[in-house]
Amino acid sequence: MSNTDYLGHSNTDLFENSGTKYLEIKAELLTVGLEATPAALQGVGTSYKAQNHGLFGWDFENHVDLAVPDDFELPDGTIVQFRKNRRSPYLIDLRDGKLVLSNGKEDLCTVKWLPQPEFYSKKTSSGHDMVRIGQLGGADCLFFCYQNYCSHFARDEQCLFCNLVSTSDTYDSVMRKKSPQDIGEVAAEAFREGETKHIMMTGGCLNSQKEIELVSRIVGSIAEHIGRERVPGTILPSPAKRKEDLQKYYDSGINGIGFSLEIWDEKMYKAVCPGKSKSVSHDEFVQSVKHAVDIFGEGNAWAVFVAGLEPKKTFLEGIRELSSIGANVLPFVWAPNPGSKLEGHRAPSSEWYVETMLEAADIVKSAGVPPGTDNHCFRCDGNSLLHDALRVRGVE
Ligand code: SF4
Repeated sequence: MSNTDYLGHSNTDLFENSGTKYLEIKAELLTVGLEATPAALQGVGTSYKAQNHGLFGWDFENHVDLAVPDDFELPDGTIVQFRKNRRSPYLIDLRDGKLVLSNGKEDLCTVKWLPQPEFYSKKTSSGHDMVRIGQLGGADCLFFCYQNYCSHFARDEQCLFCNLVSTSDTYDSVMRKKSPQDIGEVAAEAFREGETKHIMMTGGCLNSQKEIELVSRIVGSIAEHIGRERVPGTILPSPAKRKEDLQKYYDSGINGIGFSLEIWDEKMYKAVCPGKSKSVSHDEFVQSVKHAVDIFGEGNAWAVFVAGLEPKKTFLEGIRELSSIGANVLPFVWAPNPGSKLEGHRAPSSEWYVETMLEAADIVKSAGVPPGTDNHCFRCDGNSLLHDALRVRGVE
């Protein structure tokens, strides 16, 4: 292999340690992006699942008239988010009926697109396209955003990495508000098809009591439609400051809950999330996660991060503290995506991500936090690496 990739990163041993080979490939694809040939893209959007931007856009460039895969699978089952970048050397091509990933110089492995769910071409009883209400994340996680709205944009105080408004304006691919009935019907179809194992749900910045009421109605509708008492999956509402509010979320019937803290370092949190940090302090976030562990049980409360904006040291401090209280962490790999304030910047190298996530996995493993995979697993999304690093360390 060459000594450097096109960004100048050293990659002498890249992909050669079989224990971490697919973790390294995934980290490289998430930080550099990739392209696919027209032959490889045949059937994407019909037979194979295409992107349908439910909330954010994660590509390096917009592609309004081109259907590209949402995510794909590596030979060991690792799920990778497709982040389109025409400048990347990584390419997926169709050869002899197989999809082959190469780095511009040599082939790395075969990959598989994921099947398009049947519900993507169905309508709810109210006549709405189901795909405009919910989308399958990764191989098995049904995603809903009950309201695509965030008040921080109006004051120009949105999180620097966020492209919610621009994604919605560019693709207009989802309904901005969805009813509990419509969401329940989509869940019924998705679970009936058999691929869906979990849900993940988030929403806009609503007043806390209104959000609790709305989420409870939605979870109740999902439970009724899928015929289960409790719903496997995770909701990501605004932090609930009172313990009784968290109890109401639990009583709604959802099994897991998470809060999007984004950045552990407090000063960086204020700088990167100017609006959010005014409404919820770092300490209030941590308190919410602690209360969530008490109510939902160890492993079923999550803190969500955008990894790659703060130093490894503070990120790992966060992992250490959250693991010590029995919480799990879901760190998404930062994409400097179009329409965000950080568009055009660059994420850390893939080596940084691999090292950091393996260290994070060691911390989580030694703290003995239950993996929480009944509610969110490595097949649920392709844009985080910690589940994959935990698998490397034997935790699934
Ligand atoms: S809180 Fe931040 S990340 Fe969430 S939608 Fe608003 S700006 Fe985006």
